[in-house]
Amino acid sequence: MQALPLQNATQNLHSDLILDWHLAPALATSQDMSEFDFLSGIDAVPPTPILIAPQPVLREVTRDVRPEDIAFIREQLPGMFSAMYKAPGIGLAAPQVGLGMRFALVDVAEEDAPREPMLLINPEIISDSDQLAAREEGCLSLPNQYAEVVRPESIRVRYRNLAGETIERDASGLLATCIQHEMDHLDGILFVDHLSTLKRNMIMRRLAKEQKLGRR
Ligand SMILES: [Zn+2]
Repeated sequence: MQALPLQNATQNLHSDLILDWHLAPALATSQDMSEFDFLSGIDAVPPTPILIAPQPVLREVTRDVRPEDIAFIREQLPGMFSAMYKAPGIGLAAPQVGLGMRFALVDVAEEDAPREPMLLINPEIISDSDQLAAREEGCLSLPNQYAEVVRPESIRVRYRNLAGETIERDASGLLATCIQHEMDHLDGILFVDHLSTLKRNMIMRRLAKEQKLGRR
């Protein structure tokens, strides 16, 4: 998800062992930042190119990550985090860099605040609030396009970390919006799909025009 320009947005893993997921603890809630050691030198890492809509890969439904994918994912993370932070963005899903797997990065920490990186592998929303919230969204695959999207205000999400542990976490506000936006990407859904056809077409035409002009 693209960071919003002038937005008064509020708000806001483990060992190197690759475990057979069936042997992993059923529930872990701690976040071990050692998983993201590479972030200290992230500014020097070349950003992975981000695909821009209407790239067809963005419309594909991804497959679940398997334990044997973890080493590959680990290799992708520095370039992906670099791309997300440079954009700047607050979320980036695997399909946006051409990977058809169910994982996404999120960091909704404000620019001056310490980073709060999250990696969600095979995320599932296990509950969401009846209360809805409308929030302005943007997307790194639709640069400079923004629109208000209505989604549940809070969610409970379950996902795996790199160590294969299951994490459950409650999220609300911007974090909930961002997680839902990134999870949509894993099913080939873009935020404009939540808008009227008229509005979606308008945004897609504007994006195409801007891309043609070489603007970003
Ligand atoms: Zn997006």
